[in-house]
Amino acid sequence: MHDHLISIHGEEPPAPQLEGCTERQWSYLADLAAKAGETLPPREEMTKAGASALIERLKAAPAKDGTGAGFRVLYENVEDDDGSIHTSGFVVLPAGDRVPAGRYAIATPGEKNQHGFFKLWIGDRGGWALRRQVSDDFVPMERTNQLRVLAEIARDPLGASQLFGQLIGACGVCGRTLTNDLSREIGIGPVCRERFRG
Ligand SMILES: [Zn+2]
Repeated sequence: MHDHLISIHGEEPPAPQLEGCTERQWSYLADLAAKAGETLPPREEMTKAGASALIERLKAAPAKDGTGAGFRVLYENVEDDDGSIHTSGFVVLPAGDRVPAGRYAIATPGEKNQHGFFKLWIGDRGGWALRRQVSDDFVPMERTNQLRVLAEIARDPLGASQLFGQLIGACGVCGRTLTNDLSREIGIGPVCRERFRG
């Protein structure tokens, strides 16, 4: 019946309302855009999907002020503890140290918690971001803080991955729960340990 009415008047049905970008996306975008030296379109024109796409692009963009300059992303084929093989990235710091994608813990003396937990995310096209893990959430960090913490992890990436595994009980590389006594003790699965050579 409704279709019939529309055809009589020759009107198009109203376009479905697109979901607008969230408050969290918008504040993250503002931070990313400022670092990349870009201007954002008006917020009311930004859809949730559009914001996601722009976030991915800006995360991969070099920072205007040069923070992050000299950091490269490389990829390699790796085998996880479950035997699956996939391409995994690692960030190469200006000094040549390399940090694979994964989760890390570092000691934070003087802070509220004795340890900070972090996840190094690496995209498919050279973008990367370090986020602070709070419970099961991954919280965006200022780029300067990301660089500072990543440099700290890079001093001993295997140690920071093992510390994560020992404290959380899951492998920092592949995320699988560590049930083997020895793996729990050293904080990383035997195959994923190989990731930290070279
Ligand atoms: Zn693993």
